[in-house]
Amino acid sequence: MSDESCIFCRIARGEIPCRKVYEDEAVIAFHDIHPAAPVHLLLVPKRHVESLQTVESGDGELLGKMLLLAPHLAREHGADDGFRITINNGPGGGQEVFHLHMHLLGGPRPWKRGL
Ligand code: AMP
Ligand code: ZN
Repeated sequence: MSDESCIFCRIARGEIPCRKVYEDEAVIAFHDIHPAAPVHLLLVPKRHVESLQTVESGDGELLGKMLLLAPHLAREHGADDGFRITINNGPGGGQEVFHLHMHLLGGPRPWKRGL
C-alpha cells in the first residue's frame, strides 16, 4: 500500500474528510466511520506506519505519545469510567486498513461485538 492510495495517509493530508477530534505534528484522531461503541475514535500516526509488525525502536516516542493521548480524548468524549484500546495487526489480527491505528472505545454498554 503506497502512501498515495492509503486512506489514512489521505485523511492525514486532508484529502479525504473525517470527523477530526485532535491533530498535532505527528498524530491525527477522528471518529470511526462505523462506530462499534458510543465513543469510537481512531488515533493515527500521520507518517505511514503499516502496523506493530513493522515498527522500529525509533517509533517508541510516537507510540508512547498515542497511548498518552488516549485518556485525554476518552475524557473529552465522555468515556469517564474507562475505555478500551485495540490495535489490530496484520490480516491474522483482523487489520483491514494497513496504516497503524489505535481504536479507542468507550461509553455506555452494550457495545457491538467484533473488534
Ligand atoms: P481495522 O480493522 O483495525 O483495520 O479497522 C479499520 C477501521 O477504520 C474500521 O473500524 C473502519 O470503520 C474505519 N474506517 C475505515 N475508513 C474510514 C474512514 N474513511 N473514516 C473513518 N474511519 C474509517
Ligand atoms: Zn498510510
